[in-house]
Amino acid sequence: MKAVQFTEHGGTEVIEYGDFPDPEPERDEVLVDVKAGALNHLDVWTRRGLPGITLDMPHIPGSDGAGEVVDVGDDVTRFEPGDRVALSAGVSCGKCEFCRHGEHSMCVNYHIIGEHVRGVHSELAAVPEDNLLSVPEGVSWETAAAAPLVFQTAWRMLITRADVTSGERVLVLGASGGVGHAAVQIADYAGATVYATGSSEAKLEHARELGADHVIDYEAEDFASQIREMTGGRGVDVVVDHIGKATWQDSLRSLAKGGRIVTCGATTGGQPETDINRIFWNQLSVIGSTMASLGEADDVMELVWDGTFEPAIREVLPMSETARAHEMLENREGFGKVVVKPDSEL
Ligand SMILES: [Zn+2]
Repeated sequence: MKAVQFTEHGGTEVIEYGDFPDPEPERDEVLVDVKAGALNHLDVWTRRGLPGITLDMPHIPGSDGAGEVVDVGDDVTRFEPGDRVALSAGVSCGKCEFCRHGEHSMCVNYHIIGEHVRGVHSELAAVPEDNLLSVPEGVSWETAAAAPLVFQTAWRMLITRADVTSGERVLVLGASGGVGHAAVQIADYAGATVYATGSSEAKLEHARELGADHVIDYEAEDFASQIREMTGGRGVDVVVDHIGKATWQDSLRSLAKGGRIVTCGATTGGQPETDINRIFWNQLSVIGSTMASLGEADDVMELVWDGTFEPAIREVLPMSETARAHEMLENREGFGKVVVKPDSEL
């Protein structure tokens, strides 16, 4: 088969699209004929190399993908050849104290397909049965590939961890990115008044279409001051921050008394200056969130399949142009998700 792969960490030049031995499904695995995959910022980190993670090279990236079942291992019960499936990339043990409480993304052995082990940006992929979602007829391969990782991440952040309720004010930073544009839709669905930041008029218009009530161009104006002005000096109840170092202080400044900041990542760096005085005096909560439990993934994907939520597709590229896809993420070009398809599918 053909697969996106790299044999060493580095810049986009390490990415190749070439031959790789066909995978054989293990007893609990399903062999999928991949129709489409989608990129996440995670793919950029994995390509550059993450401390503490040693990959089995060559590494095949890809934590989002969808396709058709072609073969199943002996122990597989939920799927058969011909079924339409999408990947849900988080792997949990099912046995530890956190798994037993249904907190799969807190699993002590938690890992992510595509980040810690080989991913699915290839013509064929062997995936554990537990990591596959059924995709209804009528849902495009692009949607099925683009939605799972970011929608489950944003769902857990907003609904479970930050517990956003109707009438609250929620600020979503970086609304043009994968998690950001999912968070805008979910906050709107929860009945919140949604504030969104972006870096161009076109991106902000797109954020409005997805449910943002107020938008801020963070390159033209300081978003924390804007939020103060827009809320009559009060601030927002929740800030969704996956930017990290570049925005952290202003995110804290944007919060009302008793506000919550929820983070699932730090694309600009994970060690910002912080303001403990502001945190205790204003009684703020700092909340971390990673991926989602199996049940949360089911809940949010139902709402993707029925069209309540929709991943925006910024570009569809052949897998042989994956390096270009990385550049689009690194340069923050466009709005929504970059989809890649095996060259043979185009
Ligand atoms: Zn576990």
